[in-house]
Amino acid sequence: MSELIGVLLVFWALWAADGVRFAANGLFNLFGLGRRAGVHEMTWHLPHGWPAGWRATCPDIPFSISPAGIANRAVGVAGREGSSVPVARAWRWEEIKETRVEKGWVLVNGGSFYRDTGHITAGGLLSLAQMEPVARTRRIEAWVGRCVRPAHLRRRQRVLQARTGTLAMLNTLFFLLAVALTIYLASDFSAELPKRWSDFIGRTLPLYAGYLLLLHVAAVGFAVRAMKRLKAARPDNRGTALFSAAMLPPQAMRLRAVVGEAWFPLQHPLAYALAFAREKEREAIVFQTLADLRWPLGGEKDSPLAREVTAWFHARLAQHVAVALQIAHVDEQKLFALPRADSEESVSYCPRCRSQFVAGRTQCSSDGVKLVPLKEVE
Ligand SMILES: [Zn+2]
Repeated sequence: MSELIGVLLVFWALWAADGVRFAANGLFNLFGLGRRAGVHEMTWHLPHGWPAGWRATCPDIPFSISPAGIANRAVGVAGREGSSVPVARAWRWEEIKETRVEKGWVLVNGGSFYRDTGHITAGGLLSLAQMEPVARTRRIEAWVGRCVRPAHLRRRQRVLQARTGTLAMLNTLFFLLAVALTIYLASDFSAELPKRWSDFIGRTLPLYAGYLLLLHVAAVGFAVRAMKRLKAARPDNRGTALFSAAMLPPQAMRLRAVVGEAWFPLQHPLAYALAFAREKEREAIVFQTLADLRWPLGGEKDSPLAREVTAWFHARLAQHVAVALQIAHVDEQKLFALPRADSEESVSYCPRCRSQFVAGRTQCSSDGVKLVPLKEVE
């Protein structure tokens, strides 16, 4: 019996390890159950247990793009770090001759350019560069428009839910059976039962193992079918994930999440927050994005081209964000309302990070933004 317990331990350890996630800063993880999801920007995550859940990730857009060219300064960033390049690099479209990916970065003409988030792949960038200017401008405008579409994300979630219903049910059954079996074997429950019963259960254990195997095979089959029907909307490694899940049953208990991950297109994190997040998380992400649009950091030393590209993208993104916020009935005034003073001495605050300051300062000490008086001037 003790060997069995060892096997079970390994089984659940593999299950847990598969769910732990590590991520760079500025990457939002979504763990969804039905129409709602937790949207968190964290560097690591514990596994979420329930087999019928879904998962998505959404990094910030690491560049600015315009009809003139592309710059590696991010604007309207939802992540806490904000845009972090000291001096942005920019390329005119005509100058881009060669692109590739190396160690998670997109390289342009041999130089490291932006983090390869998948928003625009190296290949996509090169084909933009090779397009006719008029067609390219149209393509860029359309791309920016697609960055903030929460309604589209919600639709995708509904389709995923519908197309993976059987799959989620099989996974849930497998999960519950595995939990029941673990509890039975790990506890002394069998000793409590009349001998006749525990003998019977002991004899039929191989049968349960057979049921589990059948459930596993069926789930993988359904997952392969769902993957074919739900075409990837972003760079995709579902094939590999599914293959390893097929080989290792403990990693095959979140197949809806595996199939769904690439089905969600890469948009701005704000779109994901508006589509799925709960009130508080949603407010935080909306605030952060708007604050970065209103009081952008850095850029003073950027080249004229980088500034031009950034300004164009900033204006377009702000437009699309404003429309999405209006549709979602977000009250911007309330988000940016004058805070209450922390103490008697506080006289001003930073509108970007909400830190408060005593008399004698005009700029925020952490981001350099001009301070605003805490009380309305009478
Ligand atoms: Zn500040």
